[in-house]
Amino acid sequence: MNSAYLYLQLYRLFDEITPMPVDCGSLCDKACCQGDDGGMYLFPGEERVYQLLKPDWITIEDSDFTYTFNGKKKTVKIAFCKGECDRYQRPLACRIFPLTPYLKDGKITVITDPRSKAVCPLGKALEVKDYDRRFVKNVKNAFVLLSKNAEFLAFLKEYTSYLDEIGRFF
Ligand code: SF4
Ligand code: SF4
Repeated sequence: MNSAYLYLQLYRLFDEITPMPVDCGSLCDKACCQGDDGGMYLFPGEERVYQLLKPDWITIEDSDFTYTFNGKKKTVKIAFCKGECDRYQRPLACRIFPLTPYLKDGKITVITDPRSKAVCPLGKALEVKDYDRRFVKNVKNAFVLLSKNAEFLAFLKEYTSYLDEIGRFF
């Protein structure tokens, strides 16, 4: 299966279901979209969505973040926008923020993204149990499904180490 179609299906889980039943962007003037051009990591294979749709509001580059799969070094892609996008095409990272997947004792769990602590009122104040339960469930289900792929799981191990590293600062 082309990974673009898998991601497009997963995106639909977050078209209507968001962290809270209200528009949290009104709390913070969409702080997570007003970043300092730090970009957002795409998950493995997600860049194919944008090769397919070719939107003009996103640019995608190789990041410095790598992981190893089958003895080969793989480079994680990073996406940049200008603070505006087509909501129905936004990357998975934007859809699940301020939560993120995390491997705990080899199992996929959902945690508050430590990167959110600096920008997001929800990430600063809430625990995972405080979010819309459907949202948390959809995040978990999406990553349980993605992690059935061995390369994605290899990525997730490295991503978990990356989150641990960031988490030391918060
Ligand atoms: S996820 Fe956080 S930073 Fe983004 S719009 Fe909602 S409250 Fe603001
Ligand atoms: S792609 Fe959209 S949702 Fe993601 S940071 Fe940019 S404007 Fe915000």
